Amino acid sequence: EAVESEQEQNEPQYKEYAIEEFLVRSEPYYRPVSDELELFTAAYNQHIPVLLKGPTGCGKTRFVEYMAWKLGRPMVTIACHEDLTASDLVGRYLLDSDGTRWIDGPMTRAVKTGAILYLDEIVEARKDTTVLIHPLTDHRRILPVEKTGQIIEADDRFLLCISYNPHYQSALKDLKHSTRQRFISVEFDYPPADIEAEIVQKESGCTEEQASALAKLGEKVRNLRDHGLAEGASTRLLIYAGRLMREGIPARRACQVAIVWTLTDEAELQRSVEEVVSSIF
Ligand code: ADP
Repeated sequence: EAVESEQEQNEPQYKEYAIEEFLVRSEPYYRPVSDELELFTAAYNQHIPVLLKGPTGCGKTRFVEYMAWKLGRPMVTIACHEDLTASDLVGRYLLDSDGTRWIDGPMTRAVKTGAILYLDEIVEARKDTTVLIHPLTDHRRILPVEKTGQIIEADDRFLLCISYNPHYQSALKDLKHSTRQRFISVEFDYPPADIEAEIVQKESGCTEEQASALAKLGEKVRNLRDHGLAEGASTRLLIYAGRLMREGIPARRACQVAIVWTLTDEAELQRSVEEVVSSIF
C-alpha cells in the first residue's frame, strides 16, 4: 500500500523541486487596499496562521506572493480540491531503480524550509488534510508524518496561510470552527473603484479611461448579485477585458466575452449585464 502505482509516480507533481524554485524573485505588483501588509507582517512575526477570506479573483494570491517576496521566503502554493489527500501534501514512498525512496510532499518541504505555505480554497480539500493543519497551527508547530513515523518541527520562518471564499460555501462544505479558530481572518473584497481602476490599468495596459470605465462596470455588475448573479465580475475578469481592449478588440465585445458570457449562462441575466455594459461603453 505504501508504494504508489507506476502511473501515479509518473505524475509530474511528485517530482522533487528545489525549494529555491519557489522563491519569488522579482517584486510582484501589489496595490495595498487597507492595512493588510501590516497585519500579515505582524502575524508572520508572531507565528500566527492567516486565513484570507474573500471572493474569487480579488487579489488574495497576489497578496501572498507579494508578502513572500517582501519577507524573502519561498512560497509554496497548493490549490486544494476534493481528491487532494494527506499523502499528496506530506509525501510518499516511490519505487525507483534502487528500491523504495521517500519523497517529501510540498507541505513537508515548506515546513522544513520555512516557506510560506498557501493552501488555496481550503474547504475543497478532504477532511484528512485538515487533521494535518491542527498540530501545525498550535504552539507545537509540528507536522506528524504518519507513514515514516517522523515528527517534523516547523522551521522558525514557516507560516501557514489559507484562503476561502465564503460565497461558495454550502452547509456541508463550511470550514469547521475547530479549524477556523486557529487563524486570524483578514477579509478581502474587490477594491474601491478608484483603486481597482489603478490595478486594471497597471495589469492590463489599457488606457486610464478604459480602466476607470471597467472599474465602474465591475462595481455595477456586482450590484446585480442581488438579482440572481452568483458572483460579480472579479478584478481578474476586468483585467482580461482591459487586455483585449489593449489588443484592439472593441470595448463592448471585450466585455461580452470577458465578463457577460463568463459570469452566467442564463439569457436573462446576460441581458442585464449587457445593459450595464452598454450604459458605460
Ligand atoms: P484570488 O487569489 O483572490 O482569486 P488573485 O490574487 O489571483 O485572486 O487576483 C487576480 C488578479 O487581480 C491578479 O492576478 C492581479 O492581476 C489582480 N489584482 C487584484 N487585486 C490586486 C491588488 N490589490 N494589487 C495588484 N493586483 C491585483
